[in-house]
Amino acid sequence: MKTVIEDMRTGLREEGIQQAGEIIKRGGLVAFPTETVYGLGANALDPEASRKIYAAKGRPSDNPLIVHIAEWEALDFIVQDIPEAARKLGEAFWPGPLTMIFARRETVPLATTGGLETVAVRMPDHPVALGLIRAGGGYIAAPSANTSGRPSPTRAQHVLEDMDGVIDMIIDGGEVGIGLESTIVDFTEDVPVILRPGYINQEMIQRVIGEVEMDQALIGEDSSVRPKAPGMKYRHYAPKAQLYIVEGNQEDVRRKIDELAEREERQGRKAGVIVTEESVPFYRHGILKVIGSRGDELSISRHLFGILREFDEMDVQVIYSEAFHTPHMGQAIMNRLLKAAGHQIIKT
Ligand code: AMP
Ligand code: MG
Repeated sequence: MKTVIEDMRTGLREEGIQQAGEIIKRGGLVAFPTETVYGLGANALDPEASRKIYAAKGRPSDNPLIVHIAEWEALDFIVQDIPEAARKLGEAFWPGPLTMIFARRETVPLATTGGLETVAVRMPDHPVALGLIRAGGGYIAAPSANTSGRPSPTRAQHVLEDMDGVIDMIIDGGEVGIGLESTIVDFTEDVPVILRPGYINQEMIQRVIGEVEMDQALIGEDSSVRPKAPGMKYRHYAPKAQLYIVEGNQEDVRRKIDELAEREERQGRKAGVIVTEESVPFYRHGILKVIGSRGDELSISRHLFGILREFDEMDVQVIYSEAFHTPHMGQAIMNRLLKAAGHQIIKT
């Protein structure tokens, strides 16, 4: 199949959106930009269309999709009821990088929910995404638009690498703003639970609804605790190279990474190093990639997945990364980085 690319880097183009909406309505696949990462969209109410998403990504069929909506009114049609806390949280952060889990109505096929009786719903904060949802009938199932196991796409080019010839259309909206997937909060238990950290952090949620827990699998070192979001159990975002995160005070970390990279170079191996604007002058060894600035957390979150892809293309054998325990997004950034590293940490 020929994959059409629609250029909307300078904003939504009505004609292109209508065409994309038609593709969705007749059961096809369209990749589109959101504020978090690029999504791979299909009609969420059509089981055949949802199955195509799993096939295109090579995604395990028990890993549910998030249903994207553009208006609050759409929610009643797909969920059993909306708890008061969920309504408050949605009012605070929708449209935005927040996904909420509810009991599903039968209008949502099991093919979309990975066989679960619950459904994840999000209203993205991106004009192109909202336009596409409206043009496509109001309910778009969309996981990240990468091949399963690869880093999530933050640019249209990343989607093209993974999906060229496999899907009908890619809408290019330029580089995304956040770069990490949405925060997921489960409202089907007595106390709301964060299943995946994202831009909306625990403190922001607490300020709106009071009590909220973290899924044990996110905090504990015990890997036998199964995460409640099925997708969190898979090895994710994994680059081809071995990735190690080096932790400690910043001076020690820089010295350690430089030492490790030098050792690799002496053995004739290519080592990638993930650094910041602040730390780059301190390194003398390895192939350096500046992820962003510690003073601008979004620059770090936005570039993480793209850098992992760049290192894949350079065929480095090993990657060392500084740790990013930044105040607002540190939990989300470290969650993705640790998963990409298969939890390999070097402490200085
Ligand atoms: P992605 O859009 O690629 O980030 O994948 C969606 C994520 O949401 C995966 O980690 C899923 O496991 C999670 N998810 C979607 N629906 C549910 C649900 N009903 N219950 C728990 N987790 C869900
Ligand atoms: Mg994904």
